[in-house]
Amino acid sequence: MSRSRAVRASFPIGGVKVRVGQRREVKLDVSRLVTGAEVTLPVHVVHGREDGPVVWLDAAIHGDEVVGIEVIRRALARLSPRTLRGTVLAVPIVNVLGVMTGDRYLPDRRDLNRSFPGSPRGSLASRIAHLLMTEVVAKCEVGIDLHTGSDRRSNLPQVRCDLDDERTRTLAEAFGAPVIYHAKLRDGSLRSAAREAGARVLLYEAGEAWRLDEYAVGPGVDGVLRVLGALGMITQEELDASLTSRPVGPSVVCRRSAWVRARRTGMLHMEAVLGQQVTLGQRLGTLYDSYGRRLAIVKADRDGVVIGRTEAPLVNSGDAVVHIAEIEPVPEPDPIVVAGVVLRDEAGRLLTVRKHGTSRFMLPGGKLEPGENAVEAGVREVWEEVGLRLDASDVYVLGEYDGRAANEPGARLLSTVLVAPLTGEPQPTGEIAELRWLTPEEMARVSAVDADDLAPLLTDHVLPALGH
Ligand SMILES: [Zn+2]
Repeated sequence: MSRSRAVRASFPIGGVKVRVGQRREVKLDVSRLVTGAEVTLPVHVVHGREDGPVVWLDAAIHGDEVVGIEVIRRALARLSPRTLRGTVLAVPIVNVLGVMTGDRYLPDRRDLNRSFPGSPRGSLASRIAHLLMTEVVAKCEVGIDLHTGSDRRSNLPQVRCDLDDERTRTLAEAFGAPVIYHAKLRDGSLRSAAREAGARVLLYEAGEAWRLDEYAVGPGVDGVLRVLGALGMITQEELDASLTSRPVGPSVVCRRSAWVRARRTGMLHMEAVLGQQVTLGQRLGTLYDSYGRRLAIVKADRDGVVIGRTEAPLVNSGDAVVHIAEIEPVPEPDPIVVAGVVLRDEAGRLLTVRKHGTSRFMLPGGKLEPGENAVEAGVREVWEEVGLRLDASDVYVLGEYDGRAANEPGARLLSTVLVAPLTGEPQPTGEIAELRWLTPEEMARVSAVDADDLAPLLTDHVLPALGH
């Protein structure tokens, strides 16, 4: 091969070919208005110079959902076809007719998101669906479908997807929305048809219809870019330069949710806010009649996080008021497995060590390496930390303990404490900053007085086991 890599082919769409390293707006023909004006589906193509995944972004499948249009505008502004690896196809307005009148549906009252995969000779909704499927979705391996709440409801930024698919879940976690919600596929939806066609889909839900809520737009832009980063289409440096926020933490994962409904008709004084964690029975709002008399208190019917709420001031009996999602417990991280070694001199003093950059004294020892048992780890660590050679056959187990880690807050620590004869004069080496001999008198005292500078393993388990 005389060339280090092949030149990427142009990207064919809607009868045109987009060259590598080029950004281009393409119009796909949908239909014609009575005036003779053409109705077209606008698609932005960013065709990177280097190979990579083909990803689509789409918004306003529901014509009243404008947040996604702005998310796509800002995300596109941060992408360069000169540096992008792969190709992005962005369709900022799928429901091109509904969006002109602020209407969720098409003029024939059909829900576009129940019309997929569509057909070339079906209803208008069906034709748009078919066009999107064949010209865009069928060419992509991943898609992000942008939505907002409907019917005067606002949504906490959340990604809805199939959490049982490992790759989809990884991308959803990369998005970094406050909540990831496991949502079943609905017949006729873009997500369902796209999955059928082999693509992974994240559905981003955030904000309220017909409003450009900044709390919904910003995390949407950052989330889209993080997904492109996770797919290797933009570098970490490009990502860092483009992001406007950091996720506050890992996304809360939910699999079940329900709307709390109003039991009376009245004016609603809403207290629940998006993202709030609530408990069963907690007050979410109060309903008043037209004379200002209190009719009912709206209460949480489960523990969870508020992922949606109505913004309507007047609610009717039976109306959905607050959407609560149950939080899936986070699996515990793997415990840290360590071995520590009790070494005492003739006076009965116990050897402890303090590592550089830490404040507490602990037994010499450390984490087991792969394939190592506790005795092997103890012998190796004592050599590395204090320069003493131990004979494994002289080492015995004092006890095994389950407790807290001294230097890694929150972590679970499984410790095997070993006892070995002292084989020489210990010297601090490598990662050890300081040695300290605990006298029998000091050991007797620490159980009674505060021992801030000793590791919990020592004070909770080792000293009692040694008879102090
Ligand atoms: Zn929608």
